[in-house]
Amino acid sequence: MNKPAICGGTPVRKEKIFYGHQYIDEADIQAVVEVLKSDYLTCGPKIAEAEKKLCEVTGAKYAVLCSNGTAALHIACLAAGVKQGDEVITTPITFAASANCALYCGAKPVFADINEETYNIDPSNVKALTNEKTKAVVAVDFTGQSVELDELLVHCRKHGIALIEDGAHVIGTSYKGQKNGSIADMTTLSFHPVKTVTSGEGGAVLTNSEEYYKKLLLYRAHGITRDESQMVHESDGPWYYEQIDLGMNYRMTDIQAALLISQLDKLPMFSARRKEIVKVYDEAFSEIPEITVQREIPESDTTRHLYILRIKPEMLSIDRKQFFDALAAENVCCNVHYIPTYYFPYYEKLGYQKGLCPKAERLYEEMISLPLYYAMTDEDVEDVIAAVKKIVAYFRK
Ligand SMILES: *Cc1c(COP(=O)(O)O)cnc(C)c1O
Repeated sequence: MNKPAICGGTPVRKEKIFYGHQYIDEADIQAVVEVLKSDYLTCGPKIAEAEKKLCEVTGAKYAVLCSNGTAALHIACLAAGVKQGDEVITTPITFAASANCALYCGAKPVFADINEETYNIDPSNVKALTNEKTKAVVAVDFTGQSVELDELLVHCRKHGIALIEDGAHVIGTSYKGQKNGSIADMTTLSFHPVKTVTSGEGGAVLTNSEEYYKKLLLYRAHGITRDESQMVHESDGPWYYEQIDLGMNYRMTDIQAALLISQLDKLPMFSARRKEIVKVYDEAFSEIPEITVQREIPESDTTRHLYILRIKPEMLSIDRKQFFDALAAENVCCNVHYIPTYYFPYYEKLGYQKGLCPKAERLYEEMISLPLYYAMTDEDVEDVIAAVKKIVAYFRK
């Protein structure tokens, strides 16, 4: 039998492959250089242009660019009116920002367990945790697969709760033929380099509501308005503006916006390639009994940001950590998304304890994020599959 590298065998590949990598081409570089030669490095024309483009790409009526996906979540919660004493329901299988945004507003994050097959927040758990304090649901489209929007929307509307989609993974995905970003009350995006499109750092909030849109603009920029209809006092002159609320400086630069526009041109190409790779992975792994393939709901036409390999430890003589190390020895360098948020010491200090979401906790013990990015070659994909197969074959019970 082919010996895994961790046991002294030859690795499936010589060069390391990582779980994600941005793709920057000459057009991206030119777009950034043009801004650097222009009059505006920030607060210039590229912001409006990128916002318009995001609306075209997602079908949302309004887009508000901001400095990162975390800032987007923060201003979305503020726009939804989240404040001290409120509760915000989210999933633990996400980046910490999905819950931190509630804490920023003085509210309490409440963790709902996941569906054990799709790994997304389970609407029935959201319903069970809803009470009169619930102000918003932050539903994460984990790996890029849409959450069950119909069910969540009906529930949120019924109880007057804002549905905020944390769509950091979701760009390029549609739900029932409609692009994510144009469905929930607000959808936040992230353009961090590991995400499907990047602006270096960057984020956005998408919404169809003019009311939310106006609030988002205020919270992005100090709570300052130049719109006379919003002003409390008479204008002193052309220079006049007013701070009418307490906002942040979460602006994006024109340099980043230009990169984003250029990256969005490539979204169809990025999306197609990611789907292709996922299909090859799914086909290969669905034949391996020791591996569970993430279930996709038929409503979601998914552009996958992450590919989750889920092992069945009861069928293997190694655990997830050992499987992860064995892949690394094959030069397939993976990651784990995510450590349940409430495991973190900061959350422990707030009183959260293990055992809260058993399905999420079990998933965490069994998951590994495999390499998935646009520029992966077919050989890269084959190497990853070969490494997984080799490890499973050697360590199967
Ligand atoms: C990346 C990410 C964020 C935060 O985005 P940043 O741009 O890094 O601030 C939030 N939620 C999820 C699910 C993410 O993956």
